[in-house]
Amino acid sequence: MERTLSIIKPDGVERNLVGKIITKFEDQGIRIAALKKLQLSKKQAEAFYAVHKARPFFGELVDFMSRSPVVVMCLEGENAIQRNRDIMGATNPAQAAEGTIRKSFSKSIGENTVHGSDSAEAAANEVAFFFAASEIC
Ligand code: ADP
Ligand code: MG
Repeated sequence: MERTLSIIKPDGVERNLVGKIITKFEDQGIRIAALKKLQLSKKQAEAFYAVHKARPFFGELVDFMSRSPVVVMCLEGENAIQRNRDIMGATNPAQAAEGTIRKSFSKSIGENTVHGSDSAEAAANEVAFFFAASEIC
């Protein structure tokens, strides 16, 4: 059993896609262990994406992630980290497989609707970034 972090990014929340996105996870047997809606400050977005600090799109990414609310979730299930990534689809929606969240809903490589932890280490850090242990059940 694994836990991982999912974020429904501002473009997904703005377009009322929260329910449709959660359905894609639940239909695959992934459980929502924790969930909340919040708006990231610029500082929080910078901290969350610190690993991408040197990338040319960092400023654009921080502006995007802090422009309106997000929904953050701790997902739980067998192989949840990889399965979340599979359900999300490729970073660039133009390359995402049919039926994935990014293929179904995303407009661009920047505004690609969902975030998902990419390793066990990232998952542990990212879940802890948003949730206290008492909020995960
Ligand atoms: P993923 O979200 O699939 O793990 P990355 O970790 O490589 O992708 O990138 C983090 C986020 O940065 C992406 O989800 C996307 O929002 C943004 N991003 C990545 N590459 C680009 C790019 N070339 N131009 C603009 N934004 C990008
Ligand atoms: Mg990533």
